[in-house]
Amino acid sequence: MNHLTRRSLLKTSVMPLAGMLGLPSLSAAAQAALSPYRRPKLKITEIRTAEVRVHGYQVHVRIYTDQGIVGQGESTDAAQGNVPLIRSFARLLMGQDPLNIEAAFERIRTAGVFAGAQSGQYVTALTGVEIALWDIAGKALGLPVYQLMGGKVRDRVRVYCDSGSREMIPGDERSIERIHEIQKMGFTAAKIDIDDAADPARFDRVNWTASNGEIDHMLAKIAFTRENYPKNIDLAVDMHARYDATTGKRVAKEVEKFKLLWLEEPVPAENIDAMRDIRASTSTPICCGENIFLRHGFREILEKRAADIIMPDFQKAGGLLEARKIADMAHTYYVPVAPHAVTSPIGMMATAHVGAAIPNFLVQEWHWVDTPDLWRNWVKEGEIIEKGFITLPERAGLGVEMNEDAARKAQVPGTPWFEKA
Ligand code: MG
Repeated sequence: MNHLTRRSLLKTSVMPLAGMLGLPSLSAAAQAALSPYRRPKLKITEIRTAEVRVHGYQVHVRIYTDQGIVGQGESTDAAQGNVPLIRSFARLLMGQDPLNIEAAFERIRTAGVFAGAQSGQYVTALTGVEIALWDIAGKALGLPVYQLMGGKVRDRVRVYCDSGSREMIPGDERSIERIHEIQKMGFTAAKIDIDDAADPARFDRVNWTASNGEIDHMLAKIAFTRENYPKNIDLAVDMHARYDATTGKRVAKEVEKFKLLWLEEPVPAENIDAMRDIRASTSTPICCGENIFLRHGFREILEKRAADIIMPDFQKAGGLLEARKIADMAHTYYVPVAPHAVTSPIGMMATAHVGAAIPNFLVQEWHWVDTPDLWRNWVKEGEIIEKGFITLPERAGLGVEMNEDAARKAQVPGTPWFEKA
């Protein structure tokens, strides 16, 4: 009996064919014939950048493909010096399939192990590139980015309003105006700063042990803001990682009565034990992480229970898939994520795509209250925040496109504007 085994089939029918075509092309032909769907084949052809300054320094990254699809991403805060870094990444991206995003990320990350790829500008430059690749992937596959992040668990994400440059001065009319303005926009959460380098009760311009007078001023600012916002608006308070552990502990205890949404970075986040000690000493929720990079940066914060809430910046910390991974890691500790965000509507929307997909999303920042015209006109789609929420668009990719006439008003003088390098 002549059994047609797999081995004999290969010998009799496929091997001569393989000889004719060569094995790689046979494999490709077989895959194409067997594939139940047609997947777009793209190659990266070019990368260009534009630099802007609005709330801090931001680099917008455009990645071009041979199929005419262009993706745009944004890196922020640690973005100065990103342009030469992004140019140096080009050799690892040209000719590659932009849909293999994890591979591109790993290639760039591991290529920079001796060049600072653990944190800082290197990771932020990679972040802008990674986000542009997600925009391409969404456009190529005809899906919104949230769909590629695992699909949405919510249709809209909650946004809180940072007070911007307006410091809350108790009794001050303009501070009350800013509070009313934020309330009128429909936000359900807001944030203020209480660190003050120019506080007259400071004895020393360098040391950051707050005096009793300084702590009284901090408490007065919170009390004033709390009284002027209705109870149903949550309030977060930022200390900007400026103070020492003694001050951090004292303030965290004193503000317990205000039932804050969180107290942000009472001490710098790099000494995780110091942050953990403050967290252990108070019922005030402690939030940190806007200057922490990659999963590796957040691992120990979570393991040591140093924060009640983490706040990675998705335009800075490693990109959208990395943000998803950080959030998933936090979820195993039942820690919610409140993304730090000071970006344009493009970065805000990129953040929202991940925020829509992660179960442990709390609220994301908005920091452009001082530049409303620039904010509204930055993308062709117009205003993306409605009554304190961003509704995820059904358009492919990030779903927002830069309106260059408006964005260019913030161009850093003397820098290229998406011109060929
Ligand atoms: Mg902060």
